[in-house]
Amino acid sequence: MAMELFEKYVGQIFDRRYKIKNIIGIGGMAVVFEAHDLLMNRTVAVKMLKEEINDDAQSVKRFINESRAVSMLNHPNVVNIFDVSVKDDIKYIVMEYIHGITLKNYMNRKGVIGWKEALYYMEQILKGLEHAHAKGIIHRDIKPQNIMLLKNGVIKVTDFGIAKLPNTETVTMTDKAIGTVYYISPEQASGRNIDPRSDLYSLGAMLYEMVTGQLPFFAETSVSVALMQVNDNPIPPTELNPSLPKGLEQLILCAMEKDPDHRYQSTSEMLRCVMQLRARPDTVFQPRLHEIAPEEEEIKRGYRPPAGMTEKQKTRRKKRGSRSMFPVILGVALSFMIMMGIAVFYVLSQLIIADREQDFKTIEIENFVGQIYSEQVLAQMENSEHYVIEIERVYDGEYPENTVIAQDPTVGTTRKVSLKNAQKCRIKLTISKGAESFKLADLTNQEYRQVKMLLERMGLKTRIEEDYHDTALDGYVYRMEPNAGETVVSGDTVTLYVSKGQQIEYVTVPSFLGLTKEQAVKLLIEHDLALGKISYVASDLLVGTILSQSKPEFASVPKSATKIDFTISGGADYVPEGAGTESAEDVDTEALSGEDTGAGA
Ligand code: ADP
Ligand code: MG
Repeated sequence: MAMELFEKYVGQIFDRRYKIKNIIGIGGMAVVFEAHDLLMNRTVAVKMLKEEINDDAQSVKRFINESRAVSMLNHPNVVNIFDVSVKDDIKYIVMEYIHGITLKNYMNRKGVIGWKEALYYMEQILKGLEHAHAKGIIHRDIKPQNIMLLKNGVIKVTDFGIAKLPNTETVTMTDKAIGTVYYISPEQASGRNIDPRSDLYSLGAMLYEMVTGQLPFFAETSVSVALMQVNDNPIPPTELNPSLPKGLEQLILCAMEKDPDHRYQSTSEMLRCVMQLRARPDTVFQPRLHEIAPEEEEIKRGYRPPAGMTEKQKTRRKKRGSRSMFPVILGVALSFMIMMGIAVFYVLSQLIIADREQDFKTIEIENFVGQIYSEQVLAQMENSEHYVIEIERVYDGEYPENTVIAQDPTVGTTRKVSLKNAQKCRIKLTISKGAESFKLADLTNQEYRQVKMLLERMGLKTRIEEDYHDTALDGYVYRMEPNAGETVVSGDTVTLYVSKGQQIEYVTVPSFLGLTKEQAVKLLIEHDLALGKISYVASDLLVGTILSQSKPEFASVPKSATKIDFTISGGADYVPEGAGTESAEDVDTEALSGEDTGAGA
């Protein structure tokens, strides 16, 4: 299906720089490729706007504006955008390649995520969002597919503001778009304006799913789910998982308040509560002050129930609070609903049937790490009774080729396999390709922390040597050892020579008093000082004698850059004419250029 459409790009080089290697994933609006950046010699992810969306001027504009804004973000929990290219008919953004899995995949594997672990991730996501919100960027599509998780537990939030909920008039409903509505805020679902608090709602919904293993709202069609976001209350998380702390439930439900005014008002506020809960799990939060009775509130907003309204009518009104019922979505999705209904019913019934069968076997995952597997052994293992083996090969300088470096699930984990369906347990092995050797790109004239990160990501170690440098900016690399173009192997150390900026040297100012201008100039040159302004005044002393200097004798001043002004005697009868000053530019500079600096004063 869709795959073939994008296969044609594999092997192409975009902008003579990004060599497309393979497809990583296909989302609602875009495809993501793994690519090699030939210039920087690194692996990157290239996200390309789908062709059908390419024709829609509005979406394209959005893609361009927003990817530009997003490329300004710079935070450890936000995926780094390196480049945006919108010149030709192929529009794409180049970003940091994430060696990790989406939170969605992780949840699929793990089922429920322990609440402590979930809060650890929340903290990082909130920090990333806080950074973006501070720059006026709303994510708009917070969902587990857009949260990437690295092996070391670090979170990277992707797709800021880019993959919006597709416009109903431009995009047909695909299953990807349906995935989105599980986390959208009520205001987003009803097509109203959104602000950063909309992201907090989505976060709440995601946290709900992480700790309970269930979506807050589930229905057969996206439209029903969207309606539930607007009108229904989720089952309180502690009812689904009684071991959850009270404070966590409060946190989730507060983030998921229908009315943005009742939610946390900022990422920072929510982050504080997450941190508090992590530090003290028994925290019970004070009810928020603005939680007033709905009736009271409606009166405040100018709404009064009509005199003749029955109690029943009132309650109904309260429940279906929102006026706009997004007729557009309804129209588009109506035919789709029927199809989906049938499909979901079918899938669910299959699952229920499968679940009833008793013949499961629990197996304990054995250890693979440290083993060395040849191709033949792996081929044999493919036929193993319990496992379906998935292999990822990575360069690793520490382990010889073919060594298993990691496995997922880890040793000792238990898994149920169904014997009847010959269902096997998936296991992913990460296998070393040995040390990677590659040619170093030229990384001089770049900020050293960026270079250091880049090299470390390539598996190299770095050593920093700092020194003064006349032309390189402070903090920039001016030399590498080994040099660009030389071949290195992962694990090697690259020494980066980093500039501390120009060295400032000081000089002690001599006395110029009693000298002539010509003598003073010689003395200035000897001390690496410069001539400033000269003013003449009436004086009894010999015409042309220096009377005062702007920097006192023995003062310590920076070399080269310091100018010294002089006052010179114009004789007893001197009458200043006009401004009475002679600027340095007017001075005969022959002395400055022609003289041998070695000459004495
Ligand atoms: P969606 O977010 O709707 O899943 P995307 O087009 O954003 O769709 O991405 C498709 C898939 O590509 C993601 O689910 C993820 O697995 C993968 N992906 C996205 N960005 C990156 C990245 N920077 N590095 C590695 N994989 C990525
Ligand atoms: Mg995405």
